[in-house]
Amino acid sequence: MELRIGHLYADLMSIYGDRGNVLCLAQRARWRGIACTVTPLGLGDALLPEAHDLLFMGGGQDREQRLVAEDFQTAKGQPLREAAEAGVAILAICGGYQLMGHYYRDADGTELPGVGLFDAYTIPGQGPRLIGNVVVQSSVPGLEDRTLVGFENHGGRTHLQGDTRPLGRVVVGGGNNGQDGFEGAVCRNAFGTYLHGSCLPKNPWLADLLIRRALERRYGPVDLAPLDDTLEEEAHRAAVNRARETR
Ligand code: GLN
Repeated sequence: MELRIGHLYADLMSIYGDRGNVLCLAQRARWRGIACTVTPLGLGDALLPEAHDLLFMGGGQDREQRLVAEDFQTAKGQPLREAAEAGVAILAICGGYQLMGHYYRDADGTELPGVGLFDAYTIPGQGPRLIGNVVVQSSVPGLEDRTLVGFENHGGRTHLQGDTRPLGRVVVGGGNNGQDGFEGAVCRNAFGTYLHGSCLPKNPWLADLLIRRALERRYGPVDLAPLDDTLEEEAHRAAVNRARETR
């Protein structure tokens, strides 16, 4: 098997270690003998929906988000929707997540159109930015007994609608909007979250779920060989403890 990852706007959208998610996905595939390729997809590059099993996009500031929103309009919006429709696995973090909804109204009040993979919209908050460590009780099917941890820093407040489900419920931190207790979004194989960090190295169960869903579209049911996650679980526990102590 081969895992083909497309990395959206690698040079523009990667804060708080978001790039580490791609390293984590690639390494967890290779440890299992699954070949992995990572293709950078920058501004103006064509996105071929069938060329990728998994698309990743990290977070960024409003300035970078403007450039990306423009590129979605002129180049990648439609193929991204086609990829999501075809069941390609997608993970988008923070500023990337915001642009996977219908729109992101930024701190200046400018409305940046998103691609609408999630039935969700993001508007500026009344209060201060939501900053700090986050613990989430996952509600992703198959991961209901897991927590997810990461670091959030966002001014925008995301509101989910319709069929779009949250990734989980906030135990510590702000999450989507600091009010309804939800964190992240899931629709088919597309996942959005505010968790930077990097997120996946200390939430390896989410990394494996993405790898499995990405491969199953082309290869049918996939059983991933278990890995020794002693260090990853230790990192997860340390992050949970830090979140409880600091917020
Ligand atoms: N600019 C967005 C906000 O502040 C996203 C920031 C980020 O990706 N950390 O809401």
